[in-house]
Amino acid sequence: MVEAQTALDVALEQLRIAAEKLDLDPDIHEMLKHPKRSLIVSIRTKMDDGGTCVFTGCRVQHNDARGPFKGGIRYHPDVTLDEVTALAMWMTWKCAVADIPYGGAKGGVCCNPKEMSEAERERLTRRYTSLLLDFIGPYRDVPAPDLYTDAQTMAWIMDTYSQFKGYSVPECVTGKPLSVGGSEGRAEATSRGVVLCARESAKHLGLRLKGATVAVQGYGNVGWNAAKIAYDMGCKIVAVTDSRGGIHCPNGLNPYEVYEHKSKTGSVVDYDGCENITNEQLLETKCDVLIPAALENQITKANAGNVKAKILAEGANGPTTPEADKVLREKGIFLVPDILANSGGVTTSYLEWVQNLTREHWTLEDVNQKLEDKMVRAFNDVYRVAKKEESDMRTAALILGVGRVSEAMKTLGLWP
Ligand code: NAD
Repeated sequence: MVEAQTALDVALEQLRIAAEKLDLDPDIHEMLKHPKRSLIVSIRTKMDDGGTCVFTGCRVQHNDARGPFKGGIRYHPDVTLDEVTALAMWMTWKCAVADIPYGGAKGGVCCNPKEMSEAERERLTRRYTSLLLDFIGPYRDVPAPDLYTDAQTMAWIMDTYSQFKGYSVPECVTGKPLSVGGSEGRAEATSRGVVLCARESAKHLGLRLKGATVAVQGYGNVGWNAAKIAYDMGCKIVAVTDSRGGIHCPNGLNPYEVYEHKSKTGSVVDYDGCENITNEQLLETKCDVLIPAALENQITKANAGNVKAKILAEGANGPTTPEADKVLREKGIFLVPDILANSGGVTTSYLEWVQNLTREHWTLEDVNQKLEDKMVRAFNDVYRVAKKEESDMRTAALILGVGRVSEAMKTLGLWP
């Protein structure tokens, strides 16, 4: 295999592997290599100093054979069309693996939100939404938050869309605040799914999750909630990190208290009773479960050999490179791939959409039970494919996802 360079290279290589295993129709393979539609927009935005800036944004709609497009919107200075295309493709497989009736999409705006005021971000979001109006909507393409966009951003999108329609359309986006139709449990859903995958993996490996040691990279939305949920399920959290470094405590730490410490000091580092560690050390910590929940490309050929965890559940998107995958497989580490492990977020987004469409609001218990049922079913579906194909879980998830999408495309046929 040629060493993959970009996210899109990796995504296309993964598709190639799945296509080979599935003996995929070459026409369908060719179509799946490309997004159905990519829209590039120039977003002229009023800035607080009275001037204007033109930001470049895009929305990539990869495939909608199984249902409306679905995917987050990220604001980041490094956003590129290629990266967004890869992320849109992964959303297609993720929704298919989770078996929710959506296709895959992703959006991005090349900007530095950290250097913008809230008013500037609001004007940017509303203008970007106005440029996407003909391409998004509850039955077309349903955006959600991603890097540096949040529930408030979704509320601005919902309001802009609704103002144009002339009536309130909460089902046009997910990940909204509760006050405008958001779902109970959405904020923690990705992490709950990650921990449920770790629990199911432990069952197959004959490990008990209660008392299992867990290390978490990243203490943002996914990382902190994963540490909290694992702790509440009886795990021992032995190490956590954020962008400034991390802490190690072999006897176990209380993630709620670490969260308070981070809120006060800005980082998990220097927490009483723990030894400070680097992010590199965290990935090599002796533990049963390792949850990377920060950035992509963290576990590489260089450090994969030093990973000591028995289970690696990918909270982040793309934390493990294809070369590292091979090393981990040889070491017998049970890896739950991102398109399965972090699919709890989009699954609860789907539950939010259904609540909005039916004008209902479910309890937290209802939402969490439905999420658990769907996560466990998805995990078992992937595990069955892995057994049948004698493959690792990542390849199995791709075979399942690509297979379901291709089946839908064949059934729909080609018009005209
Ligand atoms: P976030 O911004 O809330 O948190 C990111 C965390 O990573 C922060 O604690 C930050 O300090 C830390 N971090 C940054 N650089 C680091 C480094 N070099 N080493 C260690 N930690 C570092 O983001 P999030 O929403 O928690 O997302 C994390 C990952 O999970 C991303 O890959 C995202 O795409 C993925 N993901 C998120 C969701 C979701 O629902 N939020 C869903 C699916 C996938």
